[in-house]
Amino acid sequence: MRELHIFHLYPDVLNLYGDRGNVLCLKRRLEWRGLGCTVTEVPMGERAKLSDGDLFFIGGGQDFEQGLLLEDLNSGRAEEIKAAVEDGAPFLCVCGGYQLMGHYYETASGERCRFIGALDLATVGAAERMIGNFAFETAFGTVVGFENHSGRTRLGPGVEPLGRVIKGFGNNGEDGTEGARYKNVFGTYSHGPVLPKNPAFADALLAAALERKYGDGSLEPLDDLSENEAHESAMRRLGA
Ligand code: GLN
Repeated sequence: MRELHIFHLYPDVLNLYGDRGNVLCLKRRLEWRGLGCTVTEVPMGERAKLSDGDLFFIGGGQDFEQGLLLEDLNSGRAEEIKAAVEDGAPFLCVCGGYQLMGHYYETASGERCRFIGALDLATVGAAERMIGNFAFETAFGTVVGFENHSGRTRLGPGVEPLGRVIKGFGNNGEDGTEGARYKNVFGTYSHGPVLPKNPAFADALLAAALERKYGDGSLEPLDDLSENEAHESAMRRLGA
């Protein structure tokens, strides 16, 4: 039986808007298919061998919570995450968890946090926050979610956007991009949690992890009636 080991990084400080629901969604979508799943939570200071992980999740957090992570990231964790990214490990990184994969995050008050640099992007905060339900188009269909960030993220040449904004702000409210894709890293501003009402997004992550571990990313289709109804209802509410 194929099975995945999911690592939930920093659940103690990066845990906004029910983002941990993404981990539960991934676990359930494996179990509903008779596939195995174990989840390891890795709070700040916890020594864990990231090379044992098949799929990683990092949620969102407030500016000061992101600042708390710097010491832990600089204790070797940042290099481990970069190595996992370069080795093709799938990541779902949401908002603050997405920002910390880039070169730096400069808060609205001008404090610059030098972050992991695993993705070629950088983020600068501003007084006016970008808040609301939003939708964007991706390679695996439309994604609906909720965004709340001061950070304006700009992508460098080394990464692709995860999608194109249909309605809402996305990375910066200006260039029409949302999120980032690099190797098997999926970065997004979408809270929600984003995966339960975007089953194609969840399965894209699972397929990438299964393909990398077993050379077989195939997934039996699930009856996603309620997931798709939630998706369509959110799209209608957005008028998207
Ligand atoms: N603190 C970051 C910002 O305001 C991330 C916020 C979040 O994770 N929702 O942009």
